[in-house]
Amino acid sequence: MTHLPMNVFASILIAGTAVLTSRADAAETPAPAFSLPALPYAYDALEAAIDEQTLRIHHGRHHQGYVDNLNKALAADPELRGQSLESLLARASSLPAAVRNNGGGHWNHDFFWASMAPAGGTGFPSAALEAAIDRDFGSMDAFRSAFRTAGLTRFGSGWSWLIVDPEGRLRVTSTPNQDNPLMDVAEVRGTPILGNDVWEHAYYLRYQNRRGDYLDAWWQVVNWSVVSERFAAATHGPPAGPKR
Ligand code: MN
Repeated sequence: MTHLPMNVFASILIAGTAVLTSRADAAETPAPAFSLPALPYAYDALEAAIDEQTLRIHHGRHHQGYVDNLNKALAADPELRGQSLESLLARASSLPAAVRNNGGGHWNHDFFWASMAPAGGTGFPSAALEAAIDRDFGSMDAFRSAFRTAGLTRFGSGWSWLIVDPEGRLRVTSTPNQDNPLMDVAEVRGTPILGNDVWEHAYYLRYQNRRGDYLDAWWQVVNWSVVSERFAAATHGPPAGPKR
């Protein structure tokens, strides 16, 4: 028998856990439908607003947990397996709680990571998006203030959103827990183009109870290029997907 040095073996195990697990299970159950996406930047890239340790735990443990628990819940429910996440979320009211919460958690975090970029690489709102913000909020400052208030006043855990509503207008809204505006249970439904996570796990290590300070700092890492692309897709292109 060949003996690998332990550190090599450990690296292989860490790198290959998901692959090995799905291969081992392949004979009995289908491979997991959903997997954790890689971050589009380094863990320390958002330091202007979010510290490295928070980002590591948030992505590697919290988001991974939603993915794992979503796959577990779907494995137990053959009727729901194989459906797209968006079509599941649209019928959230009829879903088991584990699918609604973890499916929402997976979609929301996937969307959240792509909503951010390192300070200096965030781009700018497109002219069309700026014009719509002026039209529907009065000014960029007024929009930011409304978005901040939505995050600050969301009691407990949840999300704040900028959405395009079914009439094509921009609105700010918020949802509890891991719900989102794609769900039929949302008070205000529409296509999200920006979302911020206001769960304590998103900010507590650096900001403790100062959620408002986190919300203020977060503008430095908002990826306006992506938000502008989503706005274009939601208003005169194909439906916005989960990432862009
Ligand atoms: Mn989160």
